[in-house]
Amino acid sequence: MTDREAKASAALGARIGVLGAGQLGRMLGLAGRALGFELTFLDPTADSPAAAVGELIVAEYADQAALGRLASADVVTFEFENVPVEAVKALERQALVFPSSRALEVAQDRLHEKTCFRSLGIRTPEFEAVESWEELLAALGRMGLPAVLKTRRFGYDGKGQAVLHTQADARAAFERLGGVPLIVEGFVEFQRELSIIAVRGRGGEVSCYPLVENHHAGGILRKTLAPAPGVSAGLQSAAKQHIEKLLGHLDYVGVLALELFEVNSQLLANEIAPRVHNTGHFTIEAARTSQFENHLRAISGLPLGATDVPEPCAMLNLIGIAPDPAAVLAVPDAHLHWYGKAPRPGRKVGHITVRAPDTDTLQQRVAELERILAS
Ligand code: AMP
Repeated sequence: MTDREAKASAALGARIGVLGAGQLGRMLGLAGRALGFELTFLDPTADSPAAAVGELIVAEYADQAALGRLASADVVTFEFENVPVEAVKALERQALVFPSSRALEVAQDRLHEKTCFRSLGIRTPEFEAVESWEELLAALGRMGLPAVLKTRRFGYDGKGQAVLHTQADARAAFERLGGVPLIVEGFVEFQRELSIIAVRGRGGEVSCYPLVENHHAGGILRKTLAPAPGVSAGLQSAAKQHIEKLLGHLDYVGVLALELFEVNSQLLANEIAPRVHNTGHFTIEAARTSQFENHLRAISGLPLGATDVPEPCAMLNLIGIAPDPAAVLAVPDAHLHWYGKAPRPGRKVGHITVRAPDTDTLQQRVAELERILAS
């Protein structure tokens, strides 16, 4: 073990460097401070949410001097997956960085990601890479409509994609999204969307959270139910095997999220996120150890914490709205997280987690919270 590795696993006083300083960085910082870590973030935006919980270097991700400063941390990680891979590679030459630039590279490109799933025997929707209108037409000829056209890179929250029902849709979507490498996928008539989050330590040990059920609107996550109701032991174990294969294949260290579609009790893999994930925010109150704490434990070489979820819970995203905190907190066992961002349409500004002793009570509490959010 190098001096740097020894210091990063001592926790007390060790410094964690984080590329990105959004709400994920803020929640990492809150968990890190509790463990005695100091945090330094690098982000181009001065009033970033994580500035409240650590030192913030305001610079572009490609700024070599700023990366050099971040690299003086004992261990470096990222909370935003659209950081340039070159920035992570530059950090890797100077510091311990987890997860690796290789994992980031795979996750940044939908074609690499789906090819990786396929090579590991993890089923995916049908997909083909397309660069030109002729290639798109030919691919649609093979897979049929409806289909989903996506940019291979830089898509998030449903941006950079379009559902195609007709050839006219395809033409319009190609006009809008084309000019960059694309992927076209068969449209999946899924029963529901699920995700699984797991954490892998530096020694290869893995812990998985239970499968959760996710509800999106307009491409943005609105609600997560954890654990996902009505999941068979077979489905949970298939999801666990999938994420374990990915973690091993990528020699991954830290928290990884895998988004899945459930179709006729089978799982199709949609995408991975090489970082703490919105569908894991419930873990702060409802799991034995939060995803944020477990990510920090993993990257700093500390033992992983238990991932079981003793009571059913739900997480509701606050998207562009700031509800009355007193009304939210009057709901039993509801917990409010505010990211310190000005509310704007479509912007995630906070979330609520609510727990209950049983699923009926949980449903009532969620309904009450949804009423408050709608008013
Ligand atoms: P993504 O950016 O790939 O996570 O896609 C955003 C959302 O679009 C997903 O959460 C799904 O609701 C939907 N979606 C993505 N790909 C497909 C697909 N192949 N078939 C049906 N719906 C999809």
